[in-house]
Amino acid sequence: MSECLFCRIAKGELPVPFLHEDEEVVAFADIHPQAPVHVLLIPRRHVATVAEIGTEDETLMDRLTRAANRIAREKGIDRSGYRLVVNCNAEGGQTVFHLHMHLLGGRSMQWPPG
Ligand code: AMP
Ligand code: ZN
Repeated sequence: MSECLFCRIAKGELPVPFLHEDEEVVAFADIHPQAPVHVLLIPRRHVATVAEIGTEDETLMDRLTRAANRIAREKGIDRSGYRLVVNCNAEGGQTVFHLHMHLLGGRSMQWPPG
Protein backbone atom coordinates (compact mmCIF):
# COMPACT_ATOMS: atom_id res chain seq x y z
CA MET A 1 0.00 0.00 0.00
CA SER A 2 3.02 2.32 -0.25
CA GLU A 3 1.35 4.03 -3.25
CA CYS A 4 -1.31 5.34 -0.85
CA LEU A 5 -0.61 9.02 -0.13
CA PHE A 6 -1.66 8.88 3.52
CA CYS A 7 0.27 5.63 4.13
CA ARG A 8 3.33 7.44 2.82
CA ILE A 9 2.67 10.40 5.11
CA ALA A 10 2.14 8.07 8.11
CA LYS A 11 5.46 6.34 7.37
CA GLY A 12 7.24 9.69 7.32
CA GLU A 13 8.12 9.32 3.63
CA LEU A 14 6.89 12.83 2.82
CA PRO A 15 7.99 16.07 4.53
CA VAL A 16 4.73 16.54 6.44
CA PRO A 17 5.05 17.75 10.05
CA PHE A 18 2.96 15.79 12.55
CA LEU A 19 0.74 17.62 15.03
CA HIS A 20 0.26 14.39 16.95
CA GLU A 21 1.54 10.86 16.66
CA ASP A 22 1.17 7.70 18.69
CA GLU A 23 1.34 3.98 17.97
CA GLU A 24 -1.88 4.00 15.96
CA VAL A 25 -2.68 7.58 14.92
CA VAL A 26 -0.97 10.42 13.06
CA ALA A 27 -2.29 13.98 12.63
CA PHE A 28 -1.19 16.69 10.22
CA ALA A 29 -2.50 19.90 8.68
CA ASP A 30 -4.79 19.64 5.66
CA ILE A 31 -3.02 20.94 2.56
CA HIS A 32 -6.16 22.86 1.46
CA PRO A 33 -7.55 24.18 4.76
CA GLN A 34 -11.29 24.87 4.83
CA ALA A 35 -11.15 26.62 8.21
CA PRO A 36 -8.52 28.37 10.36
CA VAL A 37 -7.96 24.99 12.03
CA HIS A 38 -8.11 22.05 9.61
CA VAL A 39 -6.30 18.93 10.76
CA LEU A 40 -6.49 15.39 9.40
CA LEU A 41 -6.24 12.40 11.73
CA ILE A 42 -5.41 9.05 10.20
CA PRO A 43 -4.69 5.51 11.38
CA ARG A 44 -1.15 4.35 10.66
CA ARG A 45 -2.69 1.14 9.35
CA HIS A 46 -4.31 1.36 5.93
CA VAL A 47 -8.10 1.23 6.13
CA ALA A 48 -9.69 2.58 2.94
CA THR A 49 -12.99 3.92 4.27
CA VAL A 50 -14.92 4.14 7.53
CA ALA A 51 -17.28 1.54 6.01
CA GLU A 52 -14.40 -0.95 6.23
CA ILE A 53 -13.80 -0.58 9.94
CA GLY A 54 -13.70 -4.13 11.25
CA THR A 55 -13.63 -5.92 14.56
CA GLU A 56 -9.83 -5.66 14.62
CA ASP A 57 -10.25 -1.85 14.59
CA GLU A 58 -12.60 -1.71 17.58
CA THR A 59 -10.90 1.24 19.27
CA LEU A 60 -9.72 3.09 16.18
CA MET A 61 -12.45 5.71 15.87
CA ASP A 62 -12.15 6.36 19.58
CA ARG A 63 -8.42 6.93 19.23
CA LEU A 64 -8.91 9.28 16.29
CA THR A 65 -11.56 11.18 18.24
CA ARG A 66 -9.47 11.52 21.38
CA ALA A 67 -6.46 12.74 19.38
CA ALA A 68 -8.73 15.27 17.63
CA ASN A 69 -10.09 16.46 20.98
CA ARG A 70 -6.58 16.91 22.28
CA ILE A 71 -5.53 18.97 19.25
CA ALA A 72 -8.72 21.05 19.59
CA ARG A 73 -7.71 21.83 23.18
CA GLU A 74 -4.17 22.68 22.10
CA LYS A 75 -5.51 24.98 19.37
CA GLY A 76 -7.85 26.67 21.87
CA ILE A 77 -11.06 25.81 20.01
CA ASP A 78 -12.47 23.24 22.41
CA ARG A 79 -14.80 25.73 24.11
CA SER A 80 -15.75 27.76 21.02
CA GLY A 81 -16.50 24.56 19.12
CA TYR A 82 -15.35 22.44 16.24
CA ARG A 83 -16.52 19.83 13.81
CA LEU A 84 -15.28 16.28 13.26
CA VAL A 85 -16.04 14.91 9.79
CA VAL A 86 -15.46 11.54 8.17
CA ASN A 87 -16.40 11.44 4.49
CA CYS A 88 -17.16 7.99 3.07
CA ASN A 89 -17.01 7.05 -0.61
CA ALA A 90 -18.03 9.17 -3.59
CA GLU A 91 -21.31 10.71 -2.46
CA GLY A 92 -19.89 11.23 1.02
CA GLY A 93 -17.24 13.43 -0.56
CA GLN A 94 -14.25 11.15 0.07
CA THR A 95 -11.32 11.85 -2.25
CA VAL A 96 -8.44 10.11 -0.44
CA PHE A 97 -9.10 6.43 0.21
CA HIS A 98 -7.24 6.04 3.47
CA LEU A 99 -9.58 6.61 6.39
CA HIS A 100 -9.24 10.09 7.87
CA MET A 101 -11.09 12.32 10.30
CA HIS A 102 -11.22 16.06 9.61
CA LEU A 103 -10.95 18.41 12.59
CA LEU A 104 -12.37 21.79 11.53
CA GLY A 105 -12.64 24.87 13.70
CA GLY A 106 -11.82 28.50 14.30
CA ARG A 107 -14.93 29.76 12.55
CA SER A 108 -18.69 29.18 12.69
CA MET A 109 -19.75 26.11 10.78
CA GLN A 110 -22.88 25.98 8.65
CA TRP A 111 -25.59 23.34 8.61
CA PRO A 112 -26.58 21.53 6.47
CA PRO A 113 -23.14 20.90 4.96
CA GLY A 114 -22.83 21.14 1.17
P1 AMP B 1 -11.69 13.83 1.79
O1 AMP B 1 -12.31 14.66 0.71
O2 AMP B 1 -12.55 13.66 3.00
O3 AMP B 1 -11.20 12.48 1.24
O4 AMP B 1 -10.43 14.63 2.32
C1 AMP B 1 -9.16 14.51 1.77
C2 AMP B 1 -8.39 15.68 2.30
O5 AMP B 1 -7.02 15.43 2.12
C3 AMP B 1 -8.70 17.00 1.59
O6 AMP B 1 -9.18 17.94 2.55
C4 AMP B 1 -7.36 17.41 1.00
O7 AMP B 1 -7.14 18.80 1.05
C5 AMP B 1 -6.39 16.65 1.88
N1 AMP B 1 -5.09 16.36 1.29
C6 AMP B 1 -4.85 15.83 0.07
N2 AMP B 1 -3.51 15.67 -0.12
C7 AMP B 1 -2.91 16.11 1.02
C8 AMP B 1 -1.56 16.20 1.44
N3 AMP B 1 -0.52 15.83 0.67
N4 AMP B 1 -1.30 16.71 2.67
C9 AMP B 1 -2.32 17.11 3.47
N5 AMP B 1 -3.62 17.03 3.13
C10 AMP B 1 -3.92 16.54 1.92
ZN1 ZN C 1 -3.12 4.13 3.09
